[in-house]
Amino acid sequence: MIQLLNTSEKNIIEPLQSKLFTEKKVSVSMLRLDLIHPVVSGNKIFKLYYFLEEAKKSLHKQIITFGGPYSNHLAAAAFACNHTGIKCMGFVHGEIPKALSHTLQFCLQNNMQIEFLTRDDYKKINSKEFIQQLTKKYGAHILIPEGGFSVKGMNGAGLIYNYFNQKNYTHICCPVGTATTFAGLIKANKETMILGFSVLKNLNDLEERLLFLNIDSKKYSIINDYNGGGYAKKNKELISFINSFYDTYTIPLDFVYTGKMMYGVYDLVKKNYFSEGSNVLCIHTGGLQGNNSLPKGTLNF
Ligand SMILES: *Cc1c(COP(=O)(O)O)cnc(C)c1O
Repeated sequence: MIQLLNTSEKNIIEPLQSKLFTEKKVSVSMLRLDLIHPVVSGNKIFKLYYFLEEAKKSLHKQIITFGGPYSNHLAAAAFACNHTGIKCMGFVHGEIPKALSHTLQFCLQNNMQIEFLTRDDYKKINSKEFIQQLTKKYGAHILIPEGGFSVKGMNGAGLIYNYFNQKNYTHICCPVGTATTFAGLIKANKETMILGFSVLKNLNDLEERLLFLNIDSKKYSIINDYNGGGYAKKNKELISFINSFYDTYTIPLDFVYTGKMMYGVYDLVKKNYFSEGSNVLCIHTGGLQGNNSLPKGTLNF
């Protein structure tokens, strides 16, 4: 198994110094999950953790999962399975492209078997019929829902808490896609306020998602103002924020998740969202491979 859950003794929490934070009397630090592993950094490996454990114990050793052509989840699953000797298959939504994305090339290099599904077929991936078909065609397997959205994925994400459970934070910030990581943090830490920064334009099923994952704590808040117009949408302001963040801290952010979250955190500090004395921890959820889809020269790192 990839040795990344044994790094808790390594301090990967970095305080972020800035005039703005000093002026507002707010402490902001970052948990650098992007540093835990050179390839499968970030939140994805945590969400995969219990699935990999299950696959290792099972006789079949086959994982099937889903994602888009730039999916950090597929990249992490391909690498982790390859590394662990588990057969892995990825269903990608969309028609077969003329050129494979760098993410899918990476998946192939890591021995993932890839199949494309049309949009209509992709909508059916959670249906009983589709799952029955999979078993018929590919045999026994362990199914990981898209983005790891499941109780198992959430419990894996909860392991992230081990990296900061001794510290007195007033707020924990994380980006929200499927909300699996967000739910994992809420479940693992009922005392601290968890702030989720949505990267989707219309995240209107959050309550439903948290209910599905059996979250009963109300100690969270979802922030919708910094999705930048929708999933993987970007503008000049965001890109220039990410570049100046790198110039200041030498910390690379991705433009889909952590860039938007940090842009939001700065803006909220400016607007006095955090009261004096707040101690805010932002989780860098990795995903830097996604930046490879940007034209060369967009980012200064
Ligand atoms: C997938 C991803 C997220 C979103 O995590 P969810 O558990 O789906 O909400 C956040 N950050 C990065 C870098 C990701 O790749």
